[in-house]
Amino acid sequence: MAVTSMDRSLAARMIVSASRRVAEHQDELSRLDAVAGDGDHGVNMAEALAEAGRRIGGQDDRGAAGVFRTTGGAFHETVGGAAGALFGAFFGAAAGRLSGIAEPDASDFVAALGKGTARVMRLGRAEPGHKTMLDALAPAVEGAGAALEAGEALAGVMSAAARAARRGAVSTAGMPPKAGRARYAPDRSLGYQDPGATTVALIFEAWADEMNREEADR
Ligand code: ADP
Ligand code: MG
Repeated sequence: MAVTSMDRSLAARMIVSASRRVAEHQDELSRLDAVAGDGDHGVNMAEALAEAGRRIGGQDDRGAAGVFRTTGGAFHETVGGAAGALFGAFFGAAAGRLSGIAEPDASDFVAALGKGTARVMRLGRAEPGHKTMLDALAPAVEGAGAALEAGEALAGVMSAAARAARRGAVSTAGMPPKAGRARYAPDRSLGYQDPGATTVALIFEAWADEMNREEADR
């Protein structure tokens, strides 16, 4: 049966599955960051998501918004780098959009992704095309919106977001960096994907898998 709303438990499982997925790819993410950055991205993201999972486990019930808010806090407080602040802002803004909604549906979720992405753009002063996480986030929001318009529920929306995020992440290999540390070595990262965009693809893929599993179980 189609999953039409996201309760606290589903949101928590999304974070835990994202944490597991990123941990599995931690070394690859840090290697990508080492090409033109400082090589800490995989460790940063794995630590923040693991901390988010621990905090969510001990949290009382504040719905999906509470889970995303807690995740944002874990990014802000665990990770020093640029991506920690930016992912923290992403999850915080998404939580703001979901707050007060007892059972967020696919349209709330797409709106939350949009809010999160807009916050990242404002905070980091980067745009799609600059070889950053935005090159996966922006297409994911667009793909999710198109799936929503086509009448998809959460699983279909998340699958579309994941496909678009992965395409976006792959496309960063061909881009010269215009933001973040990598811009100081503009030629070095050509041919390599942006680590932050790759993390976004991994997170959305884990979420899509979680949603599809959830549908299959119902
Ligand atoms: P740091 O660069 O501080 O070491 P990380 O290595 O954890 O932080 O994260 C690097 C990633 O952060 C990049 O791959 C990119 O996706 C993202 N990033 C960096 N600066 C920006 C920015 N201004 N806007 C959006 N994303 C950014
Ligand atoms: Mg780094």
